[in-house]
Amino acid sequence: MSNSENKKCQNCETDFTIEPEDFVFYGKIQVPLPTFCPECRMKRRMVWRNERSLYKRKCDAPNHKEEIISMYANGSSIKVWDQKFWQEDNRNPLDYGKEYDFGRPFFEQLENLLTNVSFPNLNGSGNINSDYCNWLHNSNNCYYVFGGSGNENILYSGHVADSKDSMDLYTIVKLELSYDCSFCQNSYRLFFGQNCENCMDSYFLYDCRNCSECFGCAGLRNKQYYIFNQPYAKEEYKKKIQQFNLGSFRSFIELKNKFNKQKLKIPHKFVNSIRAINSTGDNIIDANNCKYVFDIFVGGAENSKYSFRIGKNTKDVYDCSCYFNCELMYENFSVGIDAFKVFFSVFVWTGSEIQYSVNCHSSHYLFACVGLRNKQYCILNKQYTKEEYEELVPKIIKHMNDMPYISRKSQILNPKLQINSNNQNSKTQAREIIYRYGEFFPPELSPFAYNETVAQEYFSLTKEQAINKGYQWKDPETKNYQITLKTEQIPDHIKDVKDSITDEIIECSNASAQGGQSSQCSTAFKIIYRELEFYRKNNIPIPRLCPNCRHYQRIKQRNPLRLWRRKCQCAGTHSDNKVYQNTIKHNHHDNNHCPNEFETTYAPERKEIVYCEKCYQEEVV
Ligand SMILES: [Zn+2]
Ligand SMILES: [Zn+2]
Ligand SMILES: [Zn+2]
Ligand SMILES: [Zn+2]
Repeated sequence: MSNSENKKCQNCETDFTIEPEDFVFYGKIQVPLPTFCPECRMKRRMVWRNERSLYKRKCDAPNHKEEIISMYANGSSIKVWDQKFWQEDNRNPLDYGKEYDFGRPFFEQLENLLTNVSFPNLNGSGNINSDYCNWLHNSNNCYYVFGGSGNENILYSGHVADSKDSMDLYTIVKLELSYDCSFCQNSYRLFFGQNCENCMDSYFLYDCRNCSECFGCAGLRNKQYYIFNQPYAKEEYKKKIQQFNLGSFRSFIELKNKFNKQKLKIPHKFVNSIRAINSTGDNIIDANNCKYVFDIFVGGAENSKYSFRIGKNTKDVYDCSCYFNCELMYENFSVGIDAFKVFFSVFVWTGSEIQYSVNCHSSHYLFACVGLRNKQYCILNKQYTKEEYEELVPKIIKHMNDMPYISRKSQILNPKLQINSNNQNSKTQAREIIYRYGEFFPPELSPFAYNETVAQEYFSLTKEQAINKGYQWKDPETKNYQITLKTEQIPDHIKDVKDSITDEIIECSNASAQGGQSSQCSTAFKIIYRELEFYRKNNIPIPRLCPNCRHYQRIKQRNPLRLWRRKCQCAGTHSDNKVYQNTIKHNHHDNNHCPNEFETTYAPERKEIVYCEKCYQEEVV
């Protein structure tokens, strides 16, 4: 096994380490070492997934004039077809096939193909009565849901599986009649829950398991009738809950602030995980030997690294977002369902031995293809025999190294550089990013701007920052909404809200604020009738933010996709900040400071008390 090796990221110039096991993996799949650091690689993939930025536009299919909703904006370089026509279309995408040109860089040729082949306006399948959803599958009666499957009656949510009759969920499995929850599973009537499992009839819970009728609690197990972590008699509990007057927006804000303070009083485990063995990252369920992985929420990943959203039987996967039976995969986004040896690809369902391909399904042995189904041995959408394919691919790989693609950012800035060659600043900006074989697609090939994609959700940038870093940016389209209601005019209590609110165009309270730009604020929103019924039935005040701002707020609550090496904050009998008094002696360090260190998504300056697994287990049982 090789020793570890330090490298400088080609993109951000910070140092990163190639670990001994990484050499084994790259060797096994015969790819060169990465030249981007793990975080820059993640961002580069993320700019290929737009979940929530939808537009009204014309369908590009011949003889179709109707307006469609699409994740590709007007003026996008991509040809966009209504999904139904796209699926039925029996034109052969091989018609766009091109002979590989050894006189031009590889990525230029691929870009050309990307702009010629048509794409479906949205992604999703098997949905009934679910408009305005994207990346949703096998769901019924959903609205404004981005990512997920097997749902019924879900509104304004992202990454939800097998859930029912709920609203405002984010990364959820099996919730029912619930509202505003993140990273929760198997729960019923849970309101404002974070990182909870098996909870019922509860409000404002953080890291609780098997709790019912609890309010404002953090770090509880198997409890009933607790309020802000204090036990109550049943009758007393019910009375207190009534007095909280949750239906009032003012009381709701006060309760939420109190709950946020409650969260700071208890030890947090350094990672949100269940059954994570020898693994680092965050939000992990059922993982074995996974490093630097985030959001393994459907469970089941092994020997994987540098990945975000993987699971359900994924094995030996690096730099991926992929689900359902995936093995030996590298640098992909939105790939899965029986996939083997897929590299540098986007949106590939079912396939093997595929590289540098986009929107290709049930196919094998593809190199640089777009929009193919049930094909094999194709390069740039041109059909070859097995023998021809096997001969040509190594030649193209060699050509990618001999004539690399130079990122356009530097091509634009280079002439300037020659004029002010003594300007240090413009020099660094004009650094060339070289794309040889082994690099994922350069961001300028993506049909999406940085801020339309999940990159903006997890690594938020301002317009200036994004452009400086060579990403595309899309200014929000001017929305000429005729605002009929300001949030200050909404009755404080849900009981005073009239049916007529469903006719109003409400201004998002972030609309004019600074936060609006980074949260893709839609500036105005409407309340639909079944949503109003939900608020009334559950005594919840009308939200004052648009669905996008609410989504970004939930993302803000989670920890970032970044790891810091830190020491356990258990000082022996209490936490380092003296806020938490241990309830029991911790045998592994007696009354001395706990010596354990870990990789955590809690940045060092954060206020939460962060304990190692052992100390946490002693306290939260
Ligand atoms: Zn970097
Ligand atoms: Zn907003
Ligand atoms: Zn400890
Ligand atoms: Zn301890």
